[in-house]
Amino acid sequence: MHSPPTMSIRNIIDALRGETGFIYTAKARELSKKGFKVINFGVGQPDFPTPKHIVEEAKNALDKGFTGYTDVAGIPELRQAIADYLNERYNSDVKADEVIVTPGAKAALFLAFAAYVKPGDEVIIPDPSYYMYPEITKFLGGKPVYVPLKWMGGDKGFELDLNSIENSITSRTRAIVVNNPHNPTGAVFSQREMSKLLEIAMERNILVIVDEIYDNFVYDGDFKSFISFNNWRDYVVYANGFSKTFSMTGWRLGYLVVRKEVASKLTKLAVNIWTCATSFVQKAGVKALKNSWDSVREMIETFKRRRDVMVNELRKVSGVEVFKSKGTFYVYPNIEKVLKKMGIDVETFANRLLDEKHVVVLPGTLFSETELGKTFIRLSFALGEELIAEGIKRLREFVERL
Ligand code: PMP
Repeated sequence: MHSPPTMSIRNIIDALRGETGFIYTAKARELSKKGFKVINFGVGQPDFPTPKHIVEEAKNALDKGFTGYTDVAGIPELRQAIADYLNERYNSDVKADEVIVTPGAKAALFLAFAAYVKPGDEVIIPDPSYYMYPEITKFLGGKPVYVPLKWMGGDKGFELDLNSIENSITSRTRAIVVNNPHNPTGAVFSQREMSKLLEIAMERNILVIVDEIYDNFVYDGDFKSFISFNNWRDYVVYANGFSKTFSMTGWRLGYLVVRKEVASKLTKLAVNIWTCATSFVQKAGVKALKNSWDSVREMIETFKRRRDVMVNELRKVSGVEVFKSKGTFYVYPNIEKVLKKMGIDVETFANRLLDEKHVVVLPGTLFSETELGKTFIRLSFALGEELIAEGIKRLREFVERL
């Protein structure tokens, strides 16, 4: 008996890793159902509602019947609004026809990888990283080359290891991926690091795939957007989106910025997959960019306070070394001493913390292929200050009891 054809999907699909924290969130859901008060530091989205004026604009568009297909690259006013926003914010010179609107930043990143990475190509990925970069690289037949960040200790945090990046370049290197501000570490790489990275890319003729989805979540540090470099057009493919900044994760709206000639070619790929981003969501996107940003600013202030609470509380836990994140809504503490004392690995730590104290943290191994995963955990501060304090109190009880 042959296995039915519907069962014989390609191995390459089977091998893909998905949303990394799934097992922990699934377990957390089970515990909640049983009546336990679970504190979830695994969340990857703001806990704020989408601002009202954005929701209203989507409703208006629906009422007006704006429900058909749009241009593949997005409605002209949104492409223009994105270009205007980037130019004003980053003193860049992006043109509307260099913007492709996509169903989320992930879709923009997929276009970028698919456009440039072919079988056998190497893609340099600073590690730890957002899971999709290596997965999509492998899906396209490319090879992820992981270069660990430099861990400089709790005060200084993480830096790009520019020497190692340079030394990892081979004749097969196609691209370097830069996510800044950085998920999962909360690092904001400096202006110096970004300039040097671009220099390396120029010297070695390598593409830089940039993901700046957290660019509004910067609390300290000198953030330098890659789109602000004069010569971005020759070296940079830039992805960003509305999910985090405007609390619009479920709306699915993002964009890719790439030189005009490539943008028009990439719409051929987009039209073969999703045709366009949702029409009325695009209208809401225009409103989001053009209206007052007060609600965004308030949200960021709140996140900054939460970061302070989380870092201060974590610093009270013996054996935990925590870098005060400069951006994103994650912290990535090193718990090496705790693990040594307890004689367990980081996954067992996360599992037991959830089982015994009902607190979700994600083990660094979900984000890392190097040593930088084995002793670190990621905690999101996209939840209220009281919950943060309570969650870290439980973590402390768990750690110090032993
Ligand atoms: N890049 C990074 C680094 C992210 O953390 C996320 C969201 N978790 C995304 C991209 C995806 O964003 P979007 O919802 O716009 O697809």
